[in-house]
Amino acid sequence: MDRDVYDIDEHIEDEESSLRPISFDEYVGQTDLKDNLRVFVGAAKLRDESLDHVLLYGPPGLGKTTMAMIIANEMGSHIKITTAPAIEKTGDLVAILTSLNPGDVLFIDEIHRLNKVVEEILYPAMEDYCVDVVIGKENTTRSVRIDLPPFTLVGATTRAGDISAPLRDRFGIVAKLDYYSQDELTQIISRTSGVYGMNMDEEAKVELAKRSRGTPRIANRLFRRVRDFAQYFGDDIITQDRTKEALNRLKVDQLGLDDVDRRYLLGIINRFQGGPVGLEALAASIGEESVTLEDVYEPYLLQKGLIKRTHRGRIATQAAYDHFHIPRDFDE
Ligand code: ADP
Repeated sequence: MDRDVYDIDEHIEDEESSLRPISFDEYVGQTDLKDNLRVFVGAAKLRDESLDHVLLYGPPGLGKTTMAMIIANEMGSHIKITTAPAIEKTGDLVAILTSLNPGDVLFIDEIHRLNKVVEEILYPAMEDYCVDVVIGKENTTRSVRIDLPPFTLVGATTRAGDISAPLRDRFGIVAKLDYYSQDELTQIISRTSGVYGMNMDEEAKVELAKRSRGTPRIANRLFRRVRDFAQYFGDDIITQDRTKEALNRLKVDQLGLDDVDRRYLLGIINRFQGGPVGLEALAASIGEESVTLEDVYEPYLLQKGLIKRTHRGRIATQAAYDHFHIPRDFDE
C-alpha cells in the first residue's frame, strides 16, 4: 500500500497495522456507519467516480484511521495518510494533493488542527479538484490554477465542534463513531488473540472487554500486556484469573478506569466537594492538560454516567461516589 506517514508513532503503527481489519466485513461494530458506507462506496464504484469526502469524528482509538484504510481498500484505491499538525505551510498540502492519483484517498488526522491558510487551499481542492498557487516574486506574482485528480478526503477528528463551518460543509458524509459494546469488544479481542496465535478463555475475553473503555485500541493494548503475563508465567491459554491479575496489576479497574480517570474523579470529589468545578481548575489541580481530559477521558466518564457537564462546571455523580464507596451527604 502506498502510504505517506508523517508524525505517527512508528512503533504503535507497526503493532497496530497487523491488527487492522481490511474490509467492511472484518470491521466489527459501527453498524450504521458501515452499512451506509457500503452503499456509498458501491454506488461510487458503479458510477466510476471517487467517493464523496468523509468526516469521521469520535474519541481516539475507535477505528477512524482503520475505517479510512478500509474505504480505500473497498474502493480499490490507494491511501495517503497524514496529520494536520504535519501540514505547516500551504506548499506542504499542495505537494500532497498534486501527488495523488485518480481515486486516491487522502486521510488527514486531527483535521481540526489545520491552520486557516492551509485550510483554505482545501476548499477548491475538495469542491472543484483544483488548487490555486501563487508563483513569481514580489510584483511579478501571478496565480496559477492546477487541476487535481478526483480524490476522496477522509478527515478525522476528536473535536467535531472545532471544525470551521466552511470545511465541515464540504464533507458529503459526516459520521460519529461510538464506543463499542462489550460484545463487539469481545469479538475484537477474539480476532486479536487469533492474530497473535494465543488462546484465550471466553470468560477472559469478556473480562478484558469489560475493562477496555469501549475502545478497540485499548482492548488490543491490554491484550498484549495480559499476554505478557500469561507467557511469562508459562500459561498456554489466557485464563480469566490471569487476566484479572494482570489488569489489577496494571491498575485498570472493573469499569476500565485508569489512574488518570481516578485522579480526575477523586479530584472533583475530594478537592471540590463533588463540583461543579471548571475544567481548567480541575486539570491544574491534578496536573493534566485540559485538552487531554476533554478529548480522551471525559467522553467515557460521561458515557458511564460518572460525571455531568453543567454550565457551571463538572460534577461527580452518585455513581462516581458509589464506585469509590464514598458516602455522599448532599443532593446533586
Ligand atoms: P483512531 O484512528 O480512531 O484513533 P484506529 O483506527 O487507529 O483508531 O484504531 C486503533 C486500533 O483499534 C487499530 O489498530 C485497529 O486494529 C483496532 N480497531 C479499531 N476499530 C476496529 C474495529 N471496528 N474492528 C476491529 N479492530 C478495530
